[in-house]
Amino acid sequence: MSKTNDVLKNLGLDAGALAKGDLEVYSPLDGAKLGALQQHKAKDVAPAVDKAQAAFATWRAVPGPVRGEFVRLLGEELRSNKDDLGRLVTLECGKVLSEGLGEVQEMIDICDFAVGLSRQLYGLTIASERPGHHMRETWHPLGVIGIISAFNFPVAVWAWNAALALVCGNALIWKPSEKTPITALACQNLFDRAVEKFKAAGHDIPDNLSQVLIGARDVGEALADNKNIPLVSATGSTVMGRDVGARVGARLGRSLLELGGNNAMVVSPTADLEMAVRAILFGAVGTCGQRCTSLRRLIVHESVYDGLVASLVKAYGQIRVGDPLDSDTLVGPLIDEAAFEGMQDTLKKAQAEGGKVLVGGERVTDNVPGGFYVAPAIVEMSGQSDVVMHETFAPILYTLKYSDLEQAIEMHNDVPQGLSSCIFTENVREAERFLSATGSDCGIANVNIGTSGAEIGGAFGGEKETGGGRESGSDSWKVYMRRQTQTVNYSDEMPLAQGVVFKL
Ligand code: NAD
Repeated sequence: MSKTNDVLKNLGLDAGALAKGDLEVYSPLDGAKLGALQQHKAKDVAPAVDKAQAAFATWRAVPGPVRGEFVRLLGEELRSNKDDLGRLVTLECGKVLSEGLGEVQEMIDICDFAVGLSRQLYGLTIASERPGHHMRETWHPLGVIGIISAFNFPVAVWAWNAALALVCGNALIWKPSEKTPITALACQNLFDRAVEKFKAAGHDIPDNLSQVLIGARDVGEALADNKNIPLVSATGSTVMGRDVGARVGARLGRSLLELGGNNAMVVSPTADLEMAVRAILFGAVGTCGQRCTSLRRLIVHESVYDGLVASLVKAYGQIRVGDPLDSDTLVGPLIDEAAFEGMQDTLKKAQAEGGKVLVGGERVTDNVPGGFYVAPAIVEMSGQSDVVMHETFAPILYTLKYSDLEQAIEMHNDVPQGLSSCIFTENVREAERFLSATGSDCGIANVNIGTSGAEIGGAFGGEKETGGGRESGSDSWKVYMRRQTQTVNYSDEMPLAQGVVFKL
């Protein structure tokens, strides 16, 4: 525990101050209580939005590259606190330390990306049909951005949104998962340190540019309902997204939804099977199957099915499940008991639907009663029955056979979610077919790379019940801005568009 206190202290948090509220936070590692935090309630949202609007009024007028300089300083804070924040991520959400550190690296990467972007918020010039006129398209800051995040990426999701939204000139209100609020408070402290450095360098920056509201679903609902939040970016389950999307839609606001996945890999007869096994392992068991991009369905050609599945069962026998702070561990615990029960229920349901559990599923490391450690499972299915259509947030991999690529693609797309997908093949025709308009219907499609572990440079998100949102790289920044089409008449005539004549 003293090590935990050191980590908290380095991140500007005081264990005593974190024990004064009623939101109890437990470490998935061993069930130890990490804190009892004071919670915000739905009624606290409106005053926070008022403060954020005041911050926005100032920040939107700061030049983009100067806003970028602030994000550069935030990235510097993350760099110098990577070890502590990465460790806190592991302590609070249970992912292995190298993934905890990787998550902070992703925050640093998106800050770097956003710094460059701050000088590239490009619009367009458009040819006007009228003489003496010019048209252009300009991007302006949007307003207060509400961010609702899930437990499994407790800090990176905030950074993907925050770094872009800040250089775009917006103010932020973040409601982290009630399961991982301490990492959010640590991020706020790093943000505040960056603010001090920015001020010390002679820049003005408004108070309350970024606020954290610790709380449960009611706080998220109040953010979704608040008409002074033009964009709500919400990451979590499809059930949550349906509710948030409907609430924001009812007031004609904008939502960016990053919801559940049901990601698959197609393994063709020509695939490099050794590479495929490595990608399957990381995708299916990494983060204990608790990534939105985790590999859940393995669709294998019948000619290579038996050999590949036998190799996987063997490899699963060697996976080291245990303390995520130990560098030898590959798989840490599930987030909590409910996740464990959910996994057990799903395995029972899969068996009732004809599935055969080939390996795993049982609880391991019984000597840690407060932690829910499981052996990752492989379940052979004869078809995509009901259980396969749903995302269970646990390490369960369903294996399915196919005989021709058309059938594999049809099976691949025949689920309600559309986040990440991949094919392993050495055949260029198969690869291109999978990436074509008639191939994978997901937001992310890869060849000879697994479904999980995206880079920040690309737009991240998925189709169908995954919500349709895109964040992180490419032109995702545009969702955090409002587009304005501008026409200037520099002539001394008043011609109308389409040649319309309107004279007294
Ligand atoms: P969750 O839906 O239970 O909670 C996510 C967040 O939404 C929490 O902050 C929660 O308090 C809030 N919330 C819940 N119901 C709400 C409502 N009705 N209105 C407003 N806010 C509400 O999800 P979780 O268990 O924390 O995370 C796991 C889920 O998140 C999985 O489905 C996973 O696939 C998904 N996820 C998706 C992505 C992505 O980018 N697509 C990334 C990470 C996680």
